[in-house]
Amino acid sequence: MNIIDLHCDTLSEILYGYERGEDIRLASNDLHISLDKMEKGGYALQTFASFVDLGSGVDPLVHCLKLIDIFNRETAANSDRITPVRSYADIEAAMAQGKIAALLSIEEGGACRGELSVLRHMYTLGVRMMTLTWNYENELAYPNDTSYHEESRHLGIPDKERGLKDRGIEFLCEMERLGIIVDVSHLGDACFFDLVKHTTKPFIASHSNCRSLVGHCRNLTDDMIRAIAERGGIIGVNYWASVLEEVQNEPEARSRIEFMVAHMKHMKKIGGIDCIALGSDFDGITRNLEMYDASCLQNLCEGIVKGGFTEDEAEKICSGNALRLFKEILK
Ligand SMILES: [Zn+2]
Repeated sequence: MNIIDLHCDTLSEILYGYERGEDIRLASNDLHISLDKMEKGGYALQTFASFVDLGSGVDPLVHCLKLIDIFNRETAANSDRITPVRSYADIEAAMAQGKIAALLSIEEGGACRGELSVLRHMYTLGVRMMTLTWNYENELAYPNDTSYHEESRHLGIPDKERGLKDRGIEFLCEMERLGIIVDVSHLGDACFFDLVKHTTKPFIASHSNCRSLVGHCRNLTDDMIRAIAERGGIIGVNYWASVLEEVQNEPEARSRIEFMVAHMKHMKKIGGIDCIALGSDFDGITRNLEMYDASCLQNLCEGIVKGGFTEDEAEKICSGNALRLFKEILK
C-alpha cells in the first residue's frame, strides 16, 4: 500500500547533526526516516517540515532557509530515488517514475517574519504547506498550548480566548491565493475557529489526533474534526505516544499501532473516512515506538485493516485522501 506522510522533522535532525559535526545524509542514517527506510516502507510521498523554534534564539527566517537548503541538497544528491514536488502533476510524475515525492512545508509561520513578501518568496522556493504557529505566539496567531513553558505541563492548556491577528488573516488569504496548504496543527483553539471563518478552501491538521480520546491540547476537539471534514480537509494521525494515549510519564510511554487505529476510528465516526491521513511526526518524537521507523509502515496498513477498516478505507487513509487534497490545492 502506498504511504503519504504529512509531517516529519527529519530536516531538523540532519541540521542538528551537521551543527554537531556529524554528516547525516537522507539516503541512509539512524533517524526514523531515510530513503532506504521509506522505500522499504512503501512511501509515495513525504512532507518535510522546515521547523523553526522561536524560543531557541535563532533568526527564524535564516534557520528556515538553512533547512530548505538541506531539502534541496539531499533531494538533488538522490535524484534517482526522490524528487521535490510543487504541483499535483509533479506528484503524479514522481509516482509514475517510482520515485518518492518530497513536499516542502514550514512548521512555524513566524519564519516569514510577518511579511507577505517573504511568504511569496517561500512559495517560489517550493513551500506548499505551512502551520501558522508552533508553540509560540508570533505575528500571525497564538499556539494551542498556553502552558508550553511551564514545568508542570502535562496535557497542556488550550488557548480558547485569543483569536487570529489581522496579519494572520492576511496570510491565510495569500496562502489560499498562492496554493499553500493551510495547516492548523499547533494552532490555538480560538484561532482555529477564526481560521474556519476566514478561509474557503480545504485545510489540514498535518499531525494531530483526537482530544476526546486523549485530552492533550495538541489534539483536535470533535468540533474541529467536523470543521476540517466538512471543508474537505484531512488530519494526519500523529505517532507520538503523548497524543495517542493518556500517559503521565513520557519516557515510559510507547507509541502503539492499536492506539493510532483507535484515533482513526474516532475520526471516522466524527468526520467520515475521507478526512483521515497520516502525519507521523517522525524524527520529532521520542523513540519508543512499536513502529520504530519508516521501514515499518506496512505494519500500520495491516493494523488498520485488522482494526476493522476495509482495504479501500485503508488505502484512503494511507494515501488516497491526501492525494485528493493535493489535487485540489496544488495546481
Ligand atoms: Zn509539530
